[in-house]
Amino acid sequence: MPPASLRCARISRTTERMDTVIGAGADETQGAVQFERLAVLGCGLIGGSFALAARRANLAKHIVGYSKSPSTTRLALRRGVIDEEADSALRAVNGADLVVLAVPVVSTADLLKQIRHGVESHALIMDVGSTKANVAHAAAAQLGSRQSQFVPCHPIAGKEKSGVQFAEAGLFDGRRVVVTPLAANSSDLVDIAIQVWEGIGGIVSVMAPEEHDAAFAAVSHLPHLLAFAYVYALSSQPQGSAYLQLAGPGFRDFSRIAGGDPHMWRDILQANRDEVLRQLQLYKQALAGFEAQARQGNWTAVEALIRRASQIRHGWAAPTQADDET
Ligand code: NAP
Repeated sequence: MPPASLRCARISRTTERMDTVIGAGADETQGAVQFERLAVLGCGLIGGSFALAARRANLAKHIVGYSKSPSTTRLALRRGVIDEEADSALRAVNGADLVVLAVPVVSTADLLKQIRHGVESHALIMDVGSTKANVAHAAAAQLGSRQSQFVPCHPIAGKEKSGVQFAEAGLFDGRRVVVTPLAANSSDLVDIAIQVWEGIGGIVSVMAPEEHDAAFAAVSHLPHLLAFAYVYALSSQPQGSAYLQLAGPGFRDFSRIAGGDPHMWRDILQANRDEVLRQLQLYKQALAGFEAQARQGNWTAVEALIRRASQIRHGWAAPTQADDET
């Protein structure tokens, strides 16, 4: 897989096109796209934040939420995240001109299956999942010709905490959002998806789903795996707890992402297994290089390896505000 080529999206906005593409429910408010009814499926951290951000940006006139547990939608309603609870995904999408799936990536196929006969023919459907090729396959398998309405997306924004109680309207402000269009999508619909994310504060990049998965295996999924393995190895030794008491900023920075949600990370590693294992091989080769030089007492070579890594890290500038999805 070639290195991911980021393409910052350039879009033009025309009221005419909005109305044509997303139907009579869409209009423009002060130059921004607006929807009549937003359905959020999965009212957790990301779904709840999307709803709050949409409300803040006046992106949708009415927001309906559905989640696996009724207690979640009740809390979302109480917190003013949604206007209305739905007791099924199918009911939630009824009349919605924007549908956002914010569920674990492994649940995407099942949810698409639940809504495929109820989703409006003019609706834009998006997801927020951290892996994209499996989501694209799920759309092809479950939506058939309706897959043209589905634009897969991944906001690079989040927290180590899950649940609607941690949702924030500003979660996507200044954060990268990767949009990975399907071959079946019209460029007009992709433009509208981009406008939605820009409207709630995101900075959009466009790439193919497979490119996304290769890139994020390298810069996100492998580092998480390493952090989990490192904390596990540290704590598994008899003096692990005592060592932890001594840990300082180096440990804090390296291990922060080990606090991620176990369910979500199992799903991500499972969904992007091949790319993650490929990156793990590269990492193991690099580690073996360090180990071999150390065993041979070749500390000049070790220093050269460290110098190279240090220069690369110093030369790296975060592409957006923080790009620190869990
Ligand atoms: P979360 O806080 O746990 O929220 C997920 C929500 O989906 C929960 O409310 C959950 O259940 C609900 N849900 C689960 N399965 C469902 C199903 N089959 N049907 C309907 N609702 C279902 O997780 P999250 O952090 O928002 O993650 C959601 C998605 O965002 C994931 O695909 C993840 O990869 C992606 N993402 C996460 C981050 C991050 O840093 N957290 C960043 C970018 C993207 P209940 O209703 O029972 O609560």
